Parts: sequence; C-alpha cells; structure tokens
Amino acid sequence: MDLSETSQDTAPRAAEPLSLGEIVESGLCIGCGLCRSITGPAEVEMVMTPEGRERPVAMQELGRSTLMRINAVCPGTRIAGPPPAQASNAALTDTVWGPAERLVLGRAGDPAVRFVGSGGGVLTALGQFLLSSGRVKFVLHVAASRSQPMRNERRLSFDAVSMLEGAGSRYGPAATLVDFRVVLDRSEPFALIAKPCDITAVHNLARLDPRVDQYMRYALAFVCGGASDLSKSEQVLQRFGLAEDELTLFRYRGHGNPGLNRIETRDGRAFELTYRQLWEDEDKWMIQPRCKICPDAIGQVADIAVHDAWLNGGPAVEDEPLNSIIVRTRRGLELFDAAVEAGAVEIKRETSIAEISELQSHQVRKRRAVWARLKGMAIAGRPVPFVTDLALADCAAQNSLAENLAEGRGARDRARRGRLGEPPAVPREGGAIMLKDGLI
Ligand SMILES: Cc1cc2nc3c(=O)[nH]c(=O)nc-3n(C[C@H](O)[C@H](O)[C@H](O)COP(=O)(O)OP(=O)(O)OC[C@H]3O[C@@H](n4cnc5c(N)ncnc54)[C@H](O)[C@@H]3O)c2cc1C
Ligand code: SF4
Ligand code: SF4
Repeated sequence: MDLSETSQDTAPRAAEPLSLGEIVESGLCIGCGLCRSITGPAEVEMVMTPEGRERPVAMQELGRSTLMRINAVCPGTRIAGPPPAQASNAALTDTVWGPAERLVLGRAGDPAVRFVGSGGGVLTALGQFLLSSGRVKFVLHVAASRSQPMRNERRLSFDAVSMLEGAGSRYGPAATLVDFRVVLDRSEPFALIAKPCDITAVHNLARLDPRVDQYMRYALAFVCGGASDLSKSEQVLQRFGLAEDELTLFRYRGHGNPGLNRIETRDGRAFELTYRQLWEDEDKWMIQPRCKICPDAIGQVADIAVHDAWLNGGPAVEDEPLNSIIVRTRRGLELFDAAVEAGAVEIKRETSIAEISELQSHQVRKRRAVWARLKGMAIAGRPVPFVTDLALADCAAQNSLAENLAEGRGARDRARRGRLGEPPAVPREGGAIMLKDGLI
C-alpha cells in the first residue's frame, strides 16, 4: 500500500512487531480471533480469561514473520479508515461521521424481523436479502452459543431462519473471525455483518490475502459503543442467584426495541431486566480497554453502518422498531436501494448528520477524544495502533485546547497506572480452549 496516499492519524509503529502478549497487555486486543485464524490453533489459541475476555495465547514461541503478520492484520495494531478516494467522492463527508451516500431512518419490512431484531432489524433484513437475492452464498455474523447461551459464537448463515436466529445485539465477547481462514477456504461469495473492528481486521487481512476482496462482497456494521466483558453478564446472573450452566436463553435485547434482557433456565424459570436496568450504572458496563480508544466505532469501513434511533432521547421499554442507517459506499447504496425496492427494508424518512449526532452524542464525544487519548498513551510510553484516514486530529480540533489537554493527560495518567492495559491472558480455571462446539 502506498502510504503517501493516506493521511496518518498516529505515527507508524516501530519496525519490531509487538508480541501477542504485548498487544493484549497494552489493552489493544478486542478478541476478534483473526490472529488465531491466520496462524492456526497449534500456534495461537483463544481462551476465556478470568476477566471475561476472549484473548489469544501463544501455544509456542512465535517467530518474527508470524508476529509481523499478526501485527499487520490485528485491529489493535493497525486501523485504517475508508480509502481517501471513497471519502472525497462520497455524496456527503463529515469530519466526525466520515463518508455517506445516504442517511435514512428505517426498519425491516418483515414484521417478524423488526420485532426480533435489536432495533428495527435492518441488519438481519439486509442479511436475508443478500441471501435471497443470490448476491452472496452465506453471511458471517454472530449468534448466541447453542450450548452456552450467554456466550457468543460466530455463525455462518445460509438461509433466512439462521439469520433471524442471530438477530439481536450480543454485548459480550465475540470472536467473529476465529476461523476466518476456513470461511475464505469455502471460495464462495459472502457478506460480513459485525462490529467495526471486525471489519477493520478483515480489511487489514485483504492486504495480505487477495481472497478477501474476491469473496467478501459486503461488510455491514452496527455502530458500536463497546463490547463488555463476560463478567457484565455474569453480574446479571448473580443478581438473580443463577449459575451459567442453568441457562437455556440469555438475550440482551431484541423482541421489541430495545426489548428486555431475558434469561430462561432449564427448569422453566424466566427473569427479565429492562434495557435501562441493564445499563443504568456506567461503572458496571465493563467495556473492554480497546473500545475506549476506538478510532472507528461508527463503522466508516463498512458498506452500511446501522445504529439505534431512539427519537425521544433514549430507550423506553418499548419504542417503535427503528434504525438509523448510514449508507457509506456505492455498493452499499446499490444493496440498500435494491433491498428497499424488494420490500426487505422500509424507509421512514431521511435523516441528517445533525440528527445522528444528537442520537449518538456519545459517539461524537468519543471521535473527538480519541486523538488526545492516543497521544496520552504514547507519552506514557505505551504502544498505540497505527491509525490512518480517520481524521482523528480534525475531530480533536473540534474540542477546546483545555478539553484535549484533559483527555490526553487523563489517558497518560491512566496508562502510567496500568489502567488502560490488561493482565496477561490466561484461561479461567476450568476454562478451556474456545473451539469446542464444532462450528459450522
Ligand atoms: C457490543 C455492541 C455495542 C453497541 N453499541 C451501540 C451504540 O453505541 N450505538 C448504537 O446505536 N447501537 C449500538 N449497538 C448496535 C445496536 O444495538 C443494534 O444492533 C444496531 O442498531 C443494529 O440493529 P438491527 O435491529 O439492525 O440489528 P439486528 O437485525 O438485530 O442484527 C444485529 C446483527 O449484529 C450481529 N452481532 C450482534 N452482536 C455482535 C457482536 N458482538 N459481534 C459481532 N456481530 C454481532 C448479529 O449477528 C446480527 O447479525 C451495539 C451493539 C453491540 C453488539
Ligand atoms: S484483536 Fe484480534 S488479531 Fe489482535 S490480538 Fe486480539 S484476537 Fe488477535
Ligand atoms: S468500540 Fe470499537 S473496538 Fe470496541 S467492540 Fe466496538 S468497534 Fe470494536
């Protein structure tokens, strides 16, 4: 890649690659699983840590070339925004929100999908439409584990029923890319529906493996406030005096917008929390460290990014099913228009940068804060990701000098106290290697 065509938001990383342990302990890992996928389980395996994070561990000493490859694909070490040509040719470009071809409020056309889906079911509806229109053979996304329903597994969906099974937000750890090489080995056109950082990782891999661009026809994201540790869900179980092995269902939301957090047990009991009850105490969100410095939680790298649209300022117990949809690329626009034409997605009305900034004010704050946070970490001597084409400095320029200094100093001090890092990845007691369920 010709770096002269890109704009650099942070300095390129030093020539020596970070070890897997350094990536994790610096708080840069989000547990996507791509390093495990490109090396294989003999070299890297994923574990569930005592903190409730899926993390890679080296099963043997990793050579320099392996580490170079991991550093090249990892979304903790390298984060590239959309290609500059896409941004400059887009119908609309905003410093904070990036490129957009269209901004719309809408929902799934099928009432069952918009009920089951997280907000208005748009991502599920688009996934189903991609399959029914023959644009792709399968969709790679995430669903609740069948054997441990509080945990998440990557899912390959070949039909509408399977897509619907994966609907809903899964706030805990999700190693979407744990066997991405197997996905590519299928040599079939597919779409990815996932977190922005998952898409970043796959775009990184595209520089090394041409099959990514050959077979991955669409990448759709949700706008992401951060993935929680599994411990967040375990706290919910503690509240009800439940053990994980009693569960048959752990749904964070969906079945309404936002719907209830619902838990069901083998002996027929059911427990529910409202969305507000689940998230009322910010100190207990247990958001993973990587999320606090996320330069692209708004999915600039996706063809379409979808988010919540609670028009009354926040979620009630039951809002109308609705999403806000940022169509980012030309191929995303072609897909979106065709899905609307086919009735898979319904448009309520157009929206605007001003409105989505109001609906997602936490995302605007984070976009403006990340540049100073990364500077603070670098001053503290911590590794930071190499970020390009995400206009971080321009976003920070929307803050006052005092705000940037406060963000930067705060991050520097937290980094010095080790608060932005993580303990070394070790498996939980009794916890084993992840791939035990035999994924399809
Ligand atoms: C961790 C997390 C943080 C979020 N933060 C925000 C936020 O700050 N602001 C906001 O507006 N919306 C946020 N959302 C997204 C929001 O909850 C809705 O998912 C989004 O609006 C899409 O709604 P939908 O009805 O189209 O989704 P659905 O039709 O229900 O489809 C959701 C799709 O996302 C996939 N998915 C779910 N969880 C994961 C995961 N952990 N990793 C990879 N793929 C997954 C599912 O497989 C499914 O295909 C977050 C979601 C998650 C999981
Ligand atoms: S973010 Fe993904 S690729 Fe990077 S170390 Fe973690 S699991 Fe591996
Ligand atoms: S906030 Fe960023 S790093 Fe965290 S899960 Fe979301 S996209 Fe990934």
